[in-house]
Amino acid sequence: MMGRTIFIDPGRCIGCQACVSACRECDSHRGKSMIHLDYTDEGQSVASLPTVCMHCEDPVAPCAEVCPADAILVTADGVVQQADTTRCIGCANCVNACPFGVPKIDLEAKLQLKCNLCYDRTAYGLAPMCATVCPTGALFYGTVEELQAERPGVQVADTFVFGSTEVRTGVAMVVPADKVQWPVPGGLPVVEINGKDVRR
Ligand code: SF4
Ligand code: SF4
Repeated sequence: MMGRTIFIDPGRCIGCQACVSACRECDSHRGKSMIHLDYTDEGQSVASLPTVCMHCEDPVAPCAEVCPADAILVTADGVVQQADTTRCIGCANCVNACPFGVPKIDLEAKLQLKCNLCYDRTAYGLAPMCATVCPTGALFYGTVEELQAERPGVQVADTFVFGSTEVRTGVAMVVPADKVQWPVPGGLPVVEINGKDVRR
């Protein structure tokens, strides 16, 4: 895990969209947010989850691996950059490769859009915009020691399992202490296909 990184604490998210608004105002991608809020159980619950790029470390950035245009740069410090506008052809291979559902395609511009950890800020020691405006600390930027000093007893996870594949990430999730599983199951289990229960 990177020294300073984003810790996502879904239990604190109140769905206020401040992170989305702050990201939208960033100079490098004006008007578009690179962070999105997922409502995990819409209609049943108000639970919400902010989604930023997880900056996959192992395997290194599946999005960059599959890009036919070499448009996604992984920096030496492990930050996976958004697509280079001069190279991206909008083919969406990265969208399909990402296990966390992060990159989006601007169909008009034929361009991939994704969070790059506010590299223009974090490279200079500043927190990403989303973390600076989050009123509840659902997006925390710092080291794991700083997080745990502020929130005694919290556990964090940076390894997720999708089927038989484990993915270690640069961004980490805060996991309730009584629900710690290692690695954390990624995605939702498929329970129904075309109305048929496929669990049995
Ligand atoms: S959409 Fe752009 S960044 Fe994504 S794989 Fe295609 S060329 Fe690469
Ligand atoms: S979370 Fe998705 S977009 Fe981010 S580095 Fe991993 S594969 Fe790429």
